[in-house]
Amino acid sequence: MQEIAAGFERFRREAFPPRAELFQRLATTHTPNALFIGCSDARVVPELITQREPGELFVIRTAGNLVPPYGQGADGIAASIEYAVNALGVADIIVCGHSECGAMTALASGTDMSQLPATADWLRHADASRALLTPSHQGDERIATLIRFNVAAQLTNLRTHPSVARALARDEVSLHGWVYDIGSGRIETLDTATGRTAELSA
Ligand code: ZN
Repeated sequence: MQEIAAGFERFRREAFPPRAELFQRLATTHTPNALFIGCSDARVVPELITQREPGELFVIRTAGNLVPPYGQGADGIAASIEYAVNALGVADIIVCGHSECGAMTALASGTDMSQLPATADWLRHADASRALLTPSHQGDERIATLIRFNVAAQLTNLRTHPSVARALARDEVSLHGWVYDIGSGRIETLDTATGRTAELSA
């Protein structure tokens, strides 16, 4: 904890002053142009890998970058999606999976999660993706495939949210599927229509 407090001191001393004007503007405006949905994994830092400044990305992070389909009841994820699309008017929504994802590894390998009941329950949102795996998907390839299937499934789930469905119909928002590779720093983009992947470049 001491390191975190020291980091905050360093932020105030070194990072804040050169951005004072930006923070002053951000104190009264909030106009991000993209919603980034990523995994809670500490190694996947949305602003770092996309080199965005504060105020530029609206971020939701969940275990396994899962987006449950729209449903009844209070749901913080649905509320954040609705706010990003309807109130902030984001033009792009990115669902970003990643290599070595603990959630996807546990699902692909059938890990015993009896000591993690809440996690096991949450990961049921990836059941449809897991159902697409076949015995031909083995080892590391099985995990990598599930990571890709899972990103595609979450893009499908996003479409069930009324705010997203409406914005898509009006051509006001675009959906993007990514897989970030921690070891190489590369990002693979998924074309859900063709199933093809390509390396992300500007
Ligand atoms: Zn993960």
